[in-house]
Amino acid sequence: MLQFRDVTFQYPGEAGPIVDKLSFRVEQGEFVCLVGPSGCGKSTLFRLINGLLTPDKGEVLVGGRPVKGAGGCCGYMPQRDMLMPWRTVAENVRLPLEVQGGRSEKEMDGLVDKVLSDVGLKAWRNHRPDQLSGGMRQRVAFARTVLTGSDLLLLDEPFSSLDYLNRLSMREWLLAQWERERKTVVFITHDVEEALFLSSRVLAVRGRPISRLASIPVPAPYPRTIVGMQRREIMAIKEGLITMLRRDNL
Ligand code: ADP
Ligand code: MG
Repeated sequence: MLQFRDVTFQYPGEAGPIVDKLSFRVEQGEFVCLVGPSGCGKSTLFRLINGLLTPDKGEVLVGGRPVKGAGGCCGYMPQRDMLMPWRTVAENVRLPLEVQGGRSEKEMDGLVDKVLSDVGLKAWRNHRPDQLSGGMRQRVAFARTVLTGSDLLLLDEPFSSLDYLNRLSMREWLLAQWERERKTVVFITHDVEEALFLSSRVLAVRGRPISRLASIPVPAPYPRTIVGMQRREIMAIKEGLITMLRRDNL
């Protein structure tokens, strides 16, 4: 579904590359978490995938095809929810449909109402974002990402602004969505516990520039439970990951 082949990228004016000859792949239907400390270049990888940035060397393939131009290939949910405050929930969610064009008002309304019921927010369709809680806003942003129709979803620290209990509920909610839809999800977080709870495989950034990602399978069945993630085997993986991230990023 997603493949990096020897990708090198340097921001103009910087002393060296932030991504250096990086190769990795993510298979169709996987839920993968990308972990690494703040500032190591995780969001940069997402910008290379969605075509906002272009590699200096190497190539990024989505669905077997090289990425061309911005957007298009994937649903991208940036760290901040980026909802437009002057638009209602429904108007925010239908934005990708307006961009795609070619659908009648009625068709767009139908699709929007369907995805809003999926995320449990149909009753809120005519509210404005500032009338919603943080968790609800994230669900609106997620609904909008799903409506891009992409099979690859890139979620950049989507829950980092939520309080702890809300974050736990949103993790469970997201996994339920994923188990139903089986889209390919790449989820950025700097929270190792969150990565282990969500993903079937953790990709951990090793050192700087990013030239290698360690791939760590998470041996726990879905649906995941908080108690299940406290098993000794999972705790050992968590300790190992934390040790590795700390050692590589001193
Ligand atoms: P992360 O998501 O892991 O926190 P980012 O990919 O956002 O990291 O950024 C990694 C580094 O790249 C930052 O330390 C920043 O200095 C640099 N960077 C990000 N965007 C730009 C830019 N537009 N121009 C120059 N440097 C940038
Ligand atoms: Mg980031």
